[in-house]
Amino acid sequence: MASVEQAPAAEQIGTGIPVENPATGETIATIPTLSGAEVKELVASARAAQPAWEAIGFEERGRVLRRAQKWVTDNSERIIATIVSETGKTYEDAQLAEIMYAAAAFGFWAKEAPNLLADESIKSANPLVKGKKLVVRYRPVGVVGVIGPWNFPLTNSFGDCIPALAAGNAVILKPSEVTPLTSLLMAECLRASGLPEDVFQVATGDGATGAALIDGVDFVMFTGSTKTGQKVMERAAKTLTPVGLELGGKDPMIVLADAELERAANAAAYYSMNNGGQVCISIERVYVEAPVYDQFVAKVTDKVKALRQGRSAGPGSIDVGAVTFPPQLDIIDSHVRDAVAKGARVLTGGRVAPGPGMFYEPTVLVDVDHTMSCMTEETFGPTLPIMKVADAEEALRLANDSPYGLQGSVWTKDVRRGEQLARRVEAGTVCVNDAQVNYTALELPMGGWKTSGLGTRHGAGGIRKYTQQQTLLVTRFAGKRDPHMFPYKKRTTQLLGKLTRLLYGRGKRD
Ligand code: NAD
Repeated sequence: MASVEQAPAAEQIGTGIPVENPATGETIATIPTLSGAEVKELVASARAAQPAWEAIGFEERGRVLRRAQKWVTDNSERIIATIVSETGKTYEDAQLAEIMYAAAAFGFWAKEAPNLLADESIKSANPLVKGKKLVVRYRPVGVVGVIGPWNFPLTNSFGDCIPALAAGNAVILKPSEVTPLTSLLMAECLRASGLPEDVFQVATGDGATGAALIDGVDFVMFTGSTKTGQKVMERAAKTLTPVGLELGGKDPMIVLADAELERAANAAAYYSMNNGGQVCISIERVYVEAPVYDQFVAKVTDKVKALRQGRSAGPGSIDVGAVTFPPQLDIIDSHVRDAVAKGARVLTGGRVAPGPGMFYEPTVLVDVDHTMSCMTEETFGPTLPIMKVADAEEALRLANDSPYGLQGSVWTKDVRRGEQLARRVEAGTVCVNDAQVNYTALELPMGGWKTSGLGTRHGAGGIRKYTQQQTLLVTRFAGKRDPHMFPYKKRTTQLLGKLTRLLYGRGKRD
C-alpha cells in the first residue's frame, strides 16, 4: 500500500505556486502559473482535438471512460495519498467522497450519456407542422472550461469534467491553486486510459489563470465561493459564454420534537464535521424544537467531544482532518469569536488547535442567533451552532432567512409532515432524516437556489448543459406552395381565422 504521505512526482516540483500539506505545513510541490497566452494555446489545441473526439461517438468515448473507472479503482491508494497530502483530510473523506464518487461517475456518464443526449423525436399539435419530422438533438458545445475549489479536488474539480467529456467536448480544468496535484494525476489517468491528446488538459494557476480560461471556452463550469462566482459570471458576460455555478451554502438542519434523536445527533455530528466541515453541503446551523433541545445538544456535544483530530496515518486513524486553505482558519475563528462576543457559549472546541499544520478544534456553539455570523455566513469549518426554536414554523422562517439556498434537512418520525416542511425550505435539495447522501445519486440533480448557484450538476441537466440544443425540422412530403405563403388571399385568411377559432376558441371558460 502506498503511504498516505507519499510525495508527488519530482517533475512537479519547480518554480511557481507552492503546494502545502495542510496537516504538516510542508511544501510538497510547486506548480506553474499559466499566463493568459499559455491558456490561449491550451484552448487552441483543445479546439483542434475536439472534433475527432466528438466524431468517435458515445460507444468509443464510453470505452475510454470505463478504462478510467478501472484505473481509479486500481490506483485508489495513490489517488487517496495525493488527495490527503494536498488537503490534509482523512483517509475516509478521500475514499468515500472522492474515490467512490469518481469511480461511480465514470461508469454512470459512460452509460447514461447516449440515453440523455439521444435525439428526441417531437410530436406537435400545431397543424402547420403536421407530417413533418421534428427532432431535438444535443451537440457538444466544443471546449468546456472547468474551474474548481480546494475542498474536493477529485469530486468537485475533476468530477464535472467527466460528463463534459462523455458529451464529446474537449475540457480544460483549472484546479484550485491550493490543491492542483489530484487534477494532474487524473490527466495521467485519462492518458493511460487512451484519451486522445489535448482532449483533456490541466491549466494550473491562480484566479488570473481561471479568468483567462473564461475568455476562450464555450461553457464555464465553476465551483467555488459565491463571491468568485459573481466575478466569473461578469467575465463570461463579455463573450456571452454560458456558465454553470455551484457556489456556497449555509445548510440548515431542522430537528422536530418527534425526531429519532440518536440518529439526528449522529447525523449532526457527522454531516457538520466530515471533511473538516469543508463541504458545500455541510450542516452549517441547526434549529431544534424546544422540548428536545437539551437532550439533542447533550448528545451532539458528547459525540463531537469524542472526535479524533489530526494528521491521517491511514484508514481509521482520525475522524477530522486539517483546514485545507490557510485564510479559512481565520474565517472559522472569527465566526466563533463573534458568536462568543455576542453571548454564545462554546460547549466543546472553539480554538485553533496547536500545529504543526492547520487545525480547528471540532466546535459546538449554543445560545446563538441570527445577529451572529456563524448563523448567517458560510463558515466552512468544523463548527456546529445549535439554536433553540419554539416550533417548526419558527425553524422554517429562520432556515429561509439566508441569502443561500443550497441544501437543507428536516428530521422527524412523521415523514409526511417532514416532506411537507421540506417542500417549504428554500433550497435546491432538501432531505428528510438524512443529509448529503443525495450527492451520491448521480441521477438526482444537484444545484443551488438564491446565491448558491445557477444550473445543476448530475441528472439530465448535468450533461445537457455541456451541449447546444439544436432543433431540426424536416419536410418530406409537401406541395409546391403552402396555403399561408404569398400571395395573401382573402379566402385563405378567413379560413385560417376560422381554424384558429375552431382549434382554440371552442368550449366554455370559467
Ligand atoms: P474560490 O471561489 O476562492 O475559488 C474557486 C476557484 O476559482 C479556484 O480555482 C480559484 O483559483 C478560481 N478563481 C479565483 N478568482 C477567479 C476569477 N476571478 N476568475 C476565475 N476563476 C477564479 O473558492 P474556494 O475557496 O476554492 O472553495 C470554497 C468554496 O467553494 C465554498 O464557498 C464552497 O461552498 C464552494 N463549493 C461549492 C460546491 C457546490 O457544489 N455548490 C462544492 C464545493 C465547494
